[in-house]
Amino acid sequence: MAEILSQGIADASTPGEEHALAVLEDAFARFDRIAISFSGAEDVVLIDLAARLVKRVPVFCLDTGRLHAETYRFLETVREHYPVTLEVLSPDADDLSRLVREKGLFSFLRDGHGECCAIRKIEPLRRRLAGLDAWITGQRADQNVTRADLPVEQDDLAFSTADHAIVKFNPLSTWTGTDVWDYIRRRDVPYNPLHDQGFRSIGCEPCTRPVGPHQHEREGRWWWENPADKECGLHAQNVAPIRIVNG
Ligand code: SF4
Repeated sequence: MAEILSQGIADASTPGEEHALAVLEDAFARFDRIAISFSGAEDVVLIDLAARLVKRVPVFCLDTGRLHAETYRFLETVREHYPVTLEVLSPDADDLSRLVREKGLFSFLRDGHGECCAIRKIEPLRRRLAGLDAWITGQRADQNVTRADLPVEQDDLAFSTADHAIVKFNPLSTWTGTDVWDYIRRRDVPYNPLHDQGFRSIGCEPCTRPVGPHQHEREGRWWWENPADKECGLHAQNVAPIRIVNG
């Protein structure tokens, strides 16, 4: 069980921050095999919050091979800035070779993002979660129609198996995008420089674009697809409750 540092929740500046710290404290107190999934601005907020609670923050990130150069550099910024153990996960080389050989590098534009995301994101995530009992995400309820009912804690129905239950924590579920950026500015949290170029939700380079001030942030992701399909499988139960038993 992780040792919880004493300053933790006492340092909270807003009710939302206090709530997120309480969720994280509970998560780290209950689970030894737990880690933060890192990709976007929300996740650095989580790391900043967690660093106030535990001495070393366990973090993993999915290196799809298609991230922006800025994102790779940003990963190193985060590694140097915080006391993290950062695991960078790669896709299975054979699966990836087969996909590229058979369908090329942009099959998602023709077939939808499902197959490419399954190889570059879902399989590495499933591999990592097999060694964890809980994970922590930066999902917010207001990010997409698929996340409207997002709880702060849920059984992960997509990645649990018959023998291995996995819990997912969403400490920022009630935060807005404004809350996230208020926190980043207040605490001088490092962020991906792409945000200053109009990118709001940042994923893989070919599947992410800047959005205007009056567009929803998810309009910058997989813009050729229906909003209800804009989950890459990391959070598949947002779309439909499922349980993958032998996955
Ligand atoms: S976001 Fe795009 S490039 Fe990245 S894994 Fe999914 S489909 Fe592939």
